[in-house]
Amino acid sequence: MEKIKNIALVAHDNRKKDLLEWVRWNSQNLIKHNLICTGTTGTFVERTLKEQSGETDLQIKKLKSGPLGGDQQLGALIAEGKIDILIFLWDPMEPQPHDVDVKALLRIAVLYNIPTACNRATADFMISSNLIDEEYTQILKDYSTYIKRDVIL
Ligand code: PGA
Repeated sequence: MEKIKNIALVAHDNRKKDLLEWVRWNSQNLIKHNLICTGTTGTFVERTLKEQSGETDLQIKKLKSGPLGGDQQLGALIAEGKIDILIFLWDPMEPQPHDVDVKALLRIAVLYNIPTACNRATADFMISSNLIDEEYTQILKDYSTYIKRDVIL
């Protein structure tokens, strides 16, 4: 990971206000990094920040809405090494139409050893870490034997 991180931000509808507050609170830190959001989360954060504080300097790249494939797009970006950190405030109280995509995204984040926060306290600890502004090499488990097993079968 470079010093400037690619930070993915995703929140289910009941958690979007939490994420907005977190982004606002940490905007001076976040402005140094690249932000990537699923569609509705990104639009909500961008629009609300603009309404409340005039302009926002935060540049947010928006993917498709989560239920329309945004979570899968994020998963693909993680597999390609293009996401460094995932902040995913998922809703523990309500099922989602795209729960399978949510599970897939969380799985791929674990597989690629991506720092992942699913609640604000973890996100606070992550953004407060010295590593947020430093280069960092995460250790990846070697799955080459797993791939070979596939070929032999
Ligand atoms: P959304 O998607 O930002 O389009 O609401 C969130 C999600 O991935 O569930």
